[in-house]
Amino acid sequence: MVSYKRILLKLSGESLMGQQQYGIDPSRLQDYAEEITAVKQLGIQVGIVVGGGNIFRGMTGTGKGFDRVKGDQMGMLATVINSLALQSALKTAGTKSHVYTSIRMEPVGEFYSREKAIEVLENGEVAIIAGGTGNPYFTTDTASVLRGIEIEADVLLKGTRVDGIYSADPEKVPDATRFDSITFDEVYARGLKIMDLTALTLCRENNLKIVVFNMDKKGNLLRVLEDGKIGTLVTNR
Ligand code: UDP
Repeated sequence: MVSYKRILLKLSGESLMGQQQYGIDPSRLQDYAEEITAVKQLGIQVGIVVGGGNIFRGMTGTGKGFDRVKGDQMGMLATVINSLALQSALKTAGTKSHVYTSIRMEPVGEFYSREKAIEVLENGEVAIIAGGTGNPYFTTDTASVLRGIEIEADVLLKGTRVDGIYSADPEKVPDATRFDSITFDEVYARGLKIMDLTALTLCRENNLKIVVFNMDKKGNLLRVLEDGKIGTLVTNR
């Protein structure tokens, strides 16, 4: 059993699409809510940051003629939509959660403050922190690192669609190997693309370890916390 007291779970918007091309797959959402509920039952405090790529990404919008800042604001709103959907699914699964937004929008969610989020976590409820960092030109990976550091999470669990970090893209290079663990320095040196560099640097400078794992395999979130052998652990040493 891995001894994490408090985790920050980053869920990508794309994962929420499930088999769909766009939007939210209700069965995927339900699976996630059940897994998060099971983790909470282990007594682990859970903070969550959700992406918005299943609905809108600022960069993609720019290619289609959208203003970048407006596009990023649309992307941040997309993360709020996903967060509300997750909150609703968690409620159905019997887990109480609070949605905090990095941009004021009561009554959709409470305006984020680190103190309030920590209080909720200490009360055994889930804190979903929506709206990214609240600023354009950032990603929800950076937001998850930032919030993870702020709430003093023991680890950032980055749920993705791959089993961990590989020496090369396993879909293009058949003999690519998966790392059980790797240092931030090696990630830089090898140019491995696990997160954008802003997020990675913030993580390294603040000594927040990351586990990159496949969140699409049912039960994996629990496995990461129970046996620690799932995914790739990234640390400073
Ligand atoms: N975004 C932003 N600032 C932030 C976080 C997100 O402007 O602090 C915008 C950005 O346009 C991004 C979109 O929200 O493309 C959705 O987030 P992201 O692409 O990180 O979602 P994911 O890839 O995890 O689904």
